[in-house]
Amino acid sequence: MSFLEHTHYYVNQAAKILEIPADLHKQIATPHREVRVEINIKMDDGSIGTFMGFRVQHDNARGPFKGGLRYHHHVNAEEVTALASLMTWKTAVAGVPYGGAKGGIQCHARDLSDAETQRMTRGFVDGIYDIIGEKMDIPAPDVNTNGQIMAWIFDQYAKYKGYAPGVVTGKPVTIGGSEGRIQATGRGCVYATQELLAQDGTDLTGKRVAIQGFGNVGTWAAHDYDKAGAKIVGIADITGAYVNPEGIDVAAAIDYVANNGGRLEGFNGATHVEGSLILTTDCDILVPAALGGVLTKDNANDVKARYIIEGANGPTTPEAQEIFDKNGVKVLPDIYANCGGVTVSYFEWSQNMQHFYWDEPQVNAELHKVMKNGFKHLHATATKHNISYRKAAFVLGVGRVMEATRLRGL
Ligand code: NAD
Repeated sequence: MSFLEHTHYYVNQAAKILEIPADLHKQIATPHREVRVEINIKMDDGSIGTFMGFRVQHDNARGPFKGGLRYHHHVNAEEVTALASLMTWKTAVAGVPYGGAKGGIQCHARDLSDAETQRMTRGFVDGIYDIIGEKMDIPAPDVNTNGQIMAWIFDQYAKYKGYAPGVVTGKPVTIGGSEGRIQATGRGCVYATQELLAQDGTDLTGKRVAIQGFGNVGTWAAHDYDKAGAKIVGIADITGAYVNPEGIDVAAAIDYVANNGGRLEGFNGATHVEGSLILTTDCDILVPAALGGVLTKDNANDVKARYIIEGANGPTTPEAQEIFDKNGVKVLPDIYANCGGVTVSYFEWSQNMQHFYWDEPQVNAELHKVMKNGFKHLHATATKHNISYRKAAFVLGVGRVMEATRLRGL
């Protein structure tokens, strides 16, 4: 099954549980709009660089389209559609007033200079400025995109439509970003884990955590798990996995990456092993926070963690999920576990619309409330239908979108 088929599979399961009529099911599962634009820029060496950019707007029954932008060589229309669909269910699970969208540019992001990335980003905005906007579709950071790239989007959009900071979230704080947005996705994963563990009568103290991906989500998750008393026994990025059963000095790892081009390569606070071993390393909690499709039927039985917290989007295939269910491994699914990012994006957008800004403790307190409340509904739904948290999340998300669609009519 492809990633898109995985997503349909879960939506179909939820539709069955909710007894959604076939016509309404088709309506909410079909993407609203798919846009593909060619971007031509002058490269630093004088040659012409041509890139494909994508934006898929999946559903807006509950509010404007919302979702990240990914710069990666694997970006393609089908993957973006699957990610856009996940955003529709995620914003509904989080209870934020948005629909779902996703976008990306197919490129080798790390081979581009800053100047080339800026020209490519502005070229993308030239192609999509008419279909994005504060009340229409609001992009945000994802893999290989960051606050600087959001700032360029905001600036290029302003050339066409005037000052509108809410057109994009994840901006630097100086130009209308929110305190706490950078930390939000990883921080939300930690809040979610605390709720799950409390349900099982335990907490993070001394729990061994392994994290795949040491970018935005992975570093902040590591930082907050560490602060909450857990022990980080493994971290991994594109350059491999770094394990240390005695516990990794997280502050040192974050500092190392900040001064080493964003990479863990050469980090000597742990033993370097082959990258995929992070998934099967001895730990209590596994946090996939890199790319999708990494937990499959081939490695699911070797996973030692009792809890999996999906920082990444789509890291677990349906076959792996079945194995986890059979083995008693509890999985907090992406559309709940990593909704902290879109939740604080919502806070950022609200601040932009009101031109009134919050401090970080307020942002964190509101995020904490959303994650707590989200888990309460997730757990209640799982218990009511006697289903996994994954199925329960889709039942919650699809149910809320269905209700909004029905109310708004044709
Ligand atoms: P990022 O670009 O900041 O970091 C990605 C990290 O993954 C890097 O450390 C990279 O080296 C690592 N990586 C890439 N390929 C790898 C591989 N094959 N094996 C191990 N590590 C690998 O991206 P991010 O924003 O942290 O996003 C990570 C995941 O979280 C994605 O799935 C994204 O969709 C999801 N997510 C991000 C946000 C957000 O707010 N940034 C919100 C929700 C979900």
